[in-house]
Amino acid sequence: VAPALRGDLRRNEPMARHVSWRAGGAAACAYRPADLADLAVFLAGLPSAEPICFVGLGSNLLVRDGGYRGTVVFTHAVLKDVGIDAEGVIRAEAGVASPKVSRFAAMHDRTGAEFLAGIPGTIGGALAMNAGCYGAETWDTVAHVETIDRSGVIRIRTAGEYDVGYRHVALRGDNEEWFVAGAFRLHPGDGAQSRLQVRELLARRIATQPLGLPNAGSVFRNPPGDFAARLIEAAGLKGHRIGGASISAKHANFIVNDADARAGDIEALMGLAQDTVLARFGITLEREVRVIGETRP
Ligand SMILES: Cc1cc2nc3c(=O)[nH]c(=O)nc-3n(C[C@H](O)[C@H](O)[C@H](O)COP(=O)(O)OP(=O)(O)OC[C@H]3O[C@@H](n4cnc5c(N)ncnc54)[C@H](O)[C@@H]3O)c2cc1C
Repeated sequence: VAPALRGDLRRNEPMARHVSWRAGGAAACAYRPADLADLAVFLAGLPSAEPICFVGLGSNLLVRDGGYRGTVVFTHAVLKDVGIDAEGVIRAEAGVASPKVSRFAAMHDRTGAEFLAGIPGTIGGALAMNAGCYGAETWDTVAHVETIDRSGVIRIRTAGEYDVGYRHVALRGDNEEWFVAGAFRLHPGDGAQSRLQVRELLARRIATQPLGLPNAGSVFRNPPGDFAARLIEAAGLKGHRIGGASISAKHANFIVNDADARAGDIEALMGLAQDTVLARFGITLEREVRVIGETRP
């Protein structure tokens, strides 16, 4: 007899509640597991063709207004352990907020995780995106990761098993797996110095990013040798509005939901920025944010 599920299963869950843009459609099915063992049982029980999307803090994600015809799995505050071993390797589960890992590292006089303080997602999201800023990236320090697959099988994998690049991470081969934890080999450092660095980094962000309005960070990857924000601004689109969303007047690579936006407004602005930058400068902007689901019929 299969063990009973202990988590929270919902139908038609509005995803605007779960993404930092505070906009978009619903997920047909949403599961918040009780713990890792419960997650394994849940995944193993899903039909093999069911689309699955893991969601951390939704700080890089948009669900289209027509909704996601699949199952989302919430990790935040579920896979929540963080610890350090005798060798100083920090292991954080996928649902731990990245800024918490930054603080934990400083508390243990380890350096190299300061940048995570400015990334408002989970460790799972940081691993999936190779999140980074100010010259540092998540995978710079990965000792190993722990994953789960559709059958609920948990594996330990090394960084060498992944193709990792700028905001890009892909497991080689075609096994479908999600992150349940990451282990990070950081250097010994001075916690007080790390905290100082974090304060400076956060001050820089507050000065340059529209953090008071719902957003998802940088919408586009920076093209080689240039900045998406510079190109969008040079194309004359700073402050441009579609429906309830606009291209931020503070940082042109941010789209803000400042008037009850639909996901369609946000996606239309993305398309406009891409088309205009391509027409004006011959440069293709690639999305950094992930967009899933169906457009409204
Ligand atoms: C104000 C602001 C500033 C930001 N600044 C930066 C920055 O400087 N640098 C940067 O890189 N990003 C930045 N971001 C984007 C975002 O915070 C990061 O990409 C973050 O790592 C996403 O984590 P998340 O938990 O919110 O992921 P989600 O948004 O929940 O998910 C993002 C993607 O990761 C996948 N995913 C999530 N969890 C898992 C998992 N456990 N296993 C497998 N896949 C998973 C999702 O399916 C989705 O495809 C910023 C966002 C905001 C709102």
